[in-house]
Amino acid sequence: MTNKNINSNRSMARKRYLKLHPPIGEKNSFFGKHHSKESRDRISKSRLARRERLGYINPPSAREKLSKRFLGSGGSNWKGGICPLRTLIRCYRKNKIWTKKIFCRDKYTCQECFEVGGNLEAHHIKTFSKILQEFLKEYSYLSPISDKEILFKLAIHYKPFWDINNGKTLCKECHKKWRKPRNDDK
Ligand SMILES: [Zn+2]
Repeated sequence: MTNKNINSNRSMARKRYLKLHPPIGEKNSFFGKHHSKESRDRISKSRLARRERLGYINPPSAREKLSKRFLGSGGSNWKGGICPLRTLIRCYRKNKIWTKKIFCRDKYTCQECFEVGGNLEAHHIKTFSKILQEFLKEYSYLSPISDKEILFKLAIHYKPFWDINNGKTLCKECHKKWRKPRNDDK
């Protein structure tokens, strides 16, 4: 018998089986019935065990270890849960004004290669992260997580964030030289 015949015989058998035991609907022997809580747990456990056995997921002990290692303070990019606050300040409209003021002052000229126009960016002389750190130090009695809204309002009035003397116009290429690798951005 050729492979093709075997396959077609199999699909015929499958069709016959499905006719007698439809997977859904009234004719299915389980129609209208429900698994009990115990059997649901059993099914869930056996599925989980199967996934573990096949290597799709790590066993619970390893999962716990991994999450302890990488979550929160264990993560290499963890900065104390200040990301949402940082984003709030950086996306605030005053930032656009800050950038524009610096461009105007520098007459849209890169302060390193003196190219005029093109892809310009405003560079923080004292890094934004450093200013944020100092700001949080000053308000160390507030939590960057639970007091995020209050800190944001305070940040709006915190001059160092919006000081144009702390910025200079750079073209994209010159600005790249100032960029540190992400993890050193402290
Ligand atoms: Zn330049």
